[in-house]
Amino acid sequence: MTGRTHDLAAFTAITYLVATSTMPHMSLPTAFVAFSANMIGGLTPDIDQPTGALWHKMTLGTFLGKLVAPLFGGHRFISHSILGLVLFGVVSKLFLMLISGVLLVDMNVVWWAFMIGVVSHLVTDTFTHDGVPWLFPIPVRIGIPPIKAFRFHTGGIIEKGIVFPGFILLNLYLFYAYHQHILEFFKNNLK
Ligand SMILES: [Zn+2]
Repeated sequence: MTGRTHDLAAFTAITYLVATSTMPHMSLPTAFVAFSANMIGGLTPDIDQPTGALWHKMTLGTFLGKLVAPLFGGHRFISHSILGLVLFGVVSKLFLMLISGVLLVDMNVVWWAFMIGVVSHLVTDTFTHDGVPWLFPIPVRIGIPPIKAFRFHTGGIIEKGIVFPGFILLNLYLFYAYHQHILEFFKNNLK
């Protein structure tokens, strides 16, 4: 999937949670950092390819991407698996602990937002033609639906014409159906 669709998928996951569940209390800076962490998480598994959207957003990213991406063993390899999810979880937790002295926000909320982004990436990639090696190092790529021909291609007409607009519609629906709950979240939490 393209970076744009992954961004939107991560955003949709957060919208869904804010709309339907009781969120922990958070300050405005925490919500802002968590939102950014969610977007970064949504792009993180693709750091295994030098063309990954996250690299493009960084200074010297193209150069760094060429250096770091091969360490993940190729595209849709360890970074697209449960093992990768655990590794990203541990590394990001350590990183957030390290910067918690200078960035005074609720790191627990930020960490969850990041992880929700990563999970949204893996789930949405599962619906694409190539599938996802969830059980790495077991070399099986899992996809939904199981028949490859019914899954869509990254950047193809289905992704651009159906999946992307579908996510936008889903967001609009959530904002419409749960606006009361969402407004309450903003009123009660973001101070
Ligand atoms: Zn991916």
